[in-house]
Amino acid sequence: MIEIGKHPSESEIGIDAGVKCFAALSDGTLIEGVNSFRKHEEILLSEQRKLSRKKRGSNNWKKQKRRISGLHHSIANVRSDYLHKLSAEISKNHTKVYVEGLQIRNMSASARGTIEKPGNNIKAKSGLNKSILDQGWFEFRRQLDYKLYWRGGMLFEVNPRYSSQQCSCCGYTVRENRVSQALFRCQNCGYEENADINAAKNIKTVGQTGMACAANRVSGRQQEPAVNRKEILPVAS
Ligand SMILES: [Zn+2]
Repeated sequence: MIEIGKHPSESEIGIDAGVKCFAALSDGTLIEGVNSFRKHEEILLSEQRKLSRKKRGSNNWKKQKRRISGLHHSIANVRSDYLHKLSAEISKNHTKVYVEGLQIRNMSASARGTIEKPGNNIKAKSGLNKSILDQGWFEFRRQLDYKLYWRGGMLFEVNPRYSSQQCSCCGYTVRENRVSQALFRCQNCGYEENADINAAKNIKTVGQTGMACAANRVSGRQQEPAVNRKEILPVAS
C-alpha cells in the first residue's frame, strides 16, 4: 500500500541523468559525482591495458586478472557509498521525484551522441565512462525508488519526447535550442540554462502534468496503475 502524503516534505523534483555530470536537478543543482569514478576509471583502464599485454593464461596474466577484479570491487564500494548518500538526501527532501524512463534515456543517449570527436582511443574511453555512469544511474534510481517508498514518497518515470530540445521556460521546441552539449539557449525567448538542468525541469513539468507513471519497483515488476490518481498512468510501451 502506497501512502503518498505521509512524506514530511511536499517538494517535488525532476532529475536528468546528465551527459557531463552525473545528474542535474530541476532546482538547478548539478551533481558532479564523477570525479572519484573518473579517477578509478583511469586506473582501471591502465590495468586493463597491462592485462592485454600479458600472455593469456600465464601466471602474470592471472595475477593481473585478480588485480582488476579487486579494482572492480573497490570501485563498486565507493560508488555504492556515494549513491546511498545521494539517494538518502534526495528521498528525504522530496516526496515526488521524476526521472526519465529508461527506454527513452537509452534511445536519446545514443541519438544525442555523447562523444564529440571520436578517435579510437577516446571512443573506447568514453564508452567505458558512459557504462560506468549508466551503472551508477541505474543503481541510483533503484535506491531512490525504495527509499522514497520507505518514506511515503514516490519515484515516477516520465517519457518526455524532447526534454533536451524543449525550452522549460516557454515550451518552444527546436533542435537549435541545444547550442552545445552543455548549453541550452531558447531561440524563441532567449532563456539560457545548463542543458541538463533545462531537461530536468522539463522532466518535472511533464511529470506534474500527468504524463508520469510509477516507476517499476525494486523487484522490476510493473507497478499496478492506481486508477484513483490521475498522474499515475500505465506505461505506454
Ligand atoms: Zn523559451
